[in-house]
Amino acid sequence: MSRRSAERRRRRQALQELYASLPDVACQGLCQQSCSSQIDVSDLERDLLQASSGVRLPEWDQWPTGASCPLLTSSGACGDHANRPAICRLYGAGARLLEVMLRSFEIGGHREYAGRIETMRAMIADPRLHPAILRLLTGHTSPRQEFNRARHRRFSR
Ligand code: SF4
Repeated sequence: MSRRSAERRRRRQALQELYASLPDVACQGLCQQSCSSQIDVSDLERDLLQASSGVRLPEWDQWPTGASCPLLTSSGACGDHANRPAICRLYGAGARLLEVMLRSFEIGGHREYAGRIETMRAMIADPRLHPAILRLLTGHTSPRQEFNRARHRRFSR
């Protein structure tokens, strides 16, 4: 095996290990609502998706304006869910990780969230909030306003 193909194999293995470290989330059929623009993937992921699906995702700066992911099927499902890139795996995983936080509040008690756990659970199931959840999990404070607005919408129904 040449050095180049050995390196490629090593990187594929590392990518699979990275994917395996994330919560496994079934296809929710939500890309149509949430991923209506560029999908940022690594070069290796672009190559692997092309090999498995026959579809090559455009480069970030060559993505046609307003175009959805070319792997999105007419039924709203991912055309290659098993091989979807990291960015798509994080999408549902963020909500799963917040569920872990809510469970810890439920188990251990939490003065502010007592009585609101189910509302919070319903909020994290709302796909419109998933990009905000992802930002929250990566240390941004800006989603707080989005969550407060969503909570207000739910409490004032
Ligand atoms: S690769 Fe699949 S999961 Fe990711 S945006 Fe495209 S259709 Fe959605």
